[in-house]
Amino acid sequence: MSGVLTLRDVDLSGKRVLVRVDFNVPLDKETGEVSDDTRIVAAIPTIKYVAENGGKTILVSHLGRPKGKRDPKYSMEKVSKSLERLIGKPVAFVPDCIGDEVEKAVSKMNNGDILLLENVRFYPEEEKNDPEFSKRLSAIADIHVNDAFGTAHRGHASNVGAAQYLTSVPGFLMQKEIEMLGMAVESPKHPYVVILGGAKVSDKIGVITNLLEKADRILIGGAMMFTFLKALGKQTGDSLVEEDKIELAKEIMRKAEEKKVELVLPVDTVVSKEIAAGSESKTVLIDEGVPSGWKGLDIGTSTIELFRSKLVDAKTVVWNGPMGVFEIDDFAKGTESIAKTLASLKGAVTIIGGGDSAAAINKFGLADRVSHVSTGGGASLEMLEGKEMPGIRSLATKEGKKKT
Ligand code: ADP
Ligand code: MG
Repeated sequence: MSGVLTLRDVDLSGKRVLVRVDFNVPLDKETGEVSDDTRIVAAIPTIKYVAENGGKTILVSHLGRPKGKRDPKYSMEKVSKSLERLIGKPVAFVPDCIGDEVEKAVSKMNNGDILLLENVRFYPEEEKNDPEFSKRLSAIADIHVNDAFGTAHRGHASNVGAAQYLTSVPGFLMQKEIEMLGMAVESPKHPYVVILGGAKVSDKIGVITNLLEKADRILIGGAMMFTFLKALGKQTGDSLVEEDKIELAKEIMRKAEEKKVELVLPVDTVVSKEIAAGSESKTVLIDEGVPSGWKGLDIGTSTIELFRSKLVDAKTVVWNGPMGVFEIDDFAKGTESIAKTLASLKGAVTIIGGGDSAAAINKFGLADRVSHVSTGGGASLEMLEGKEMPGIRSLATKEGKKKT
């Protein structure tokens, strides 16, 4: 990571380390308990490293949308219990994130101790990046570690504001996100293949526009393929088409031609009358068109073969957006086959971005067979769009200066 200090560059021994983690975990609607601890597990390497190197770990995160008010439903206390179980060490909890009680708890910490603060979004000042609040949050620490990539596209007090008062270094999760996604936008190895899918063209305009400048091939599947196919005059039946994006699709195809980027569209699609498991389905050729009353819900087998042939020699692959309605097994084959193809590539860097795409690769059990599955939904998209991220810009540089 060029120029940015890393966690390994700083001396943690005896230091009070404010670690901004992403503990925004899903909660069970009935019991209120943590229903998926993936994000807690993901933060453990950083927490362990700080503790094992003699730091006093003070964890801070947001949870849910408490709208700037104290709401017991979104208390971090349950998270402290999960973390304690997962890390196998005591985790102290303070029911606030600034103030006397927090200061007292921190002053009692020994090297290696772990403390979790209450939900930082109980204060409206967090999302407003209020300087006074940031100052109070920072006053209890000597160093700031930012391991919350999921909020890197937001300039809030606990990730960006605190960096005004403390040296801010990335945690291990954050560092990998910056390295992998940064490589995909700045210095990809070629051939560079981008696979785009998912629900809407409109969600991905920024990503397409930015990656059109860098990729050698762009493969398009998912519902968004139908807006492109309609722009080419194909019959799309009842498939999802964004009528107001047809012109844009034409513009993208024109640009691709101009930049000599190969834009590859499906040649067949799995269609059904309903988006439901077990409903009648068949494969139709795009050239013959999707009959009215039917909608395309996955890429077909010839498209899977076509896409595979465009991937075999890839050195960098970025994939955002499922190829079909993968949540239903009948329409998951395209997404699964592409996931398997990525898993089988030798010597390629393979990066998956987007919340649903990450869910898909996890569902197929292939997450550890690709180079990187980004944990940030919105943040990874903004990174692929090439946008400047406040939570990255605020990290300290090796020259000892803030980049801002
Ligand atoms: P990500 O979260 O990875 O960025 P998106 O949110 O853009 O992905 O898209 C994911 C959604 O797109 C999934 O819920 C999937 O069911 C839906 N989808 C994919 N292909 C189709 C299709 N052909 N028709 C309707 N929905 C689709
Ligand atoms: Mg999504």
